[in-house]
Amino acid sequence: MYVVGMTGGIGSGKTAVSDRFSSLGIKIVDADIASRAVVEPGQPALKAIADYFGSALIQTDGTLNRRLLREQIFGDSTKRRWLEKLLHPLIGAYTNAELKSAESPYVMLVSPLLIEAGNTRFTNRILVVDVPEQLQIERVMKRDSNTANQVSAIIEVQTSREKRLKQADDVILNDGSLTALDEIVETLHAQYENLAAEYNKTQSQ
Ligand code: ATP
Repeated sequence: MYVVGMTGGIGSGKTAVSDRFSSLGIKIVDADIASRAVVEPGQPALKAIADYFGSALIQTDGTLNRRLLREQIFGDSTKRRWLEKLLHPLIGAYTNAELKSAESPYVMLVSPLLIEAGNTRFTNRILVVDVPEQLQIERVMKRDSNTANQVSAIIEVQTSREKRLKQADDVILNDGSLTALDEIVETLHAQYENLAAEYNKTQSQ
């Protein structure tokens, strides 16, 4: 299966872009969903977490208190490593299964941490959604009712634009209208269909 990895900073337009690929019939696999799915009630990882961190982390409805878990591992590298060792293989396996089950011509893996979390091991190509910082701040302020300072603080801790762009095979500069985005996505979609067809040919030889 030909996998296009897609990433971008906060509010760069990942959802706007993936919605458009999805309407063209492309299966979207979301790395954030994978990381939540493996700790859902009934999953073995949730019990392992409760055994290790204490049952106070499980809320009355049986779901994981993710905020409390984040607090517990903050500044405690032993606990953080324990958690990563538990969850990384599970998230990887879940993601892989989702990618493999796709029936579209290619599949798109969306992850804010595509590059940082090593998720590029799943991908054949990297698409970066890029946006000038001022516009990024404006869009997130509007969407999340945040102040410019709050948005800037988030951008500050994320991977830099430059670093992300260095990894990109393709870049969508999302500084135009949503209609302009439709056209950009349609063009890329045609390219990805061709690349996927080529790839599938080499795989079947
Ligand atoms: P996050 O990283 O926070 O998950 P994201 O990368 O998925 O964000 P979106 O939610 O798609 O980003 O976009 C951020 C905001 O900007 C949304 O409100 C979206 O509707 C708006 N937006 C995205 N692209 C455009 C565009 N080309 N023109 C106008 N508004 C846009």
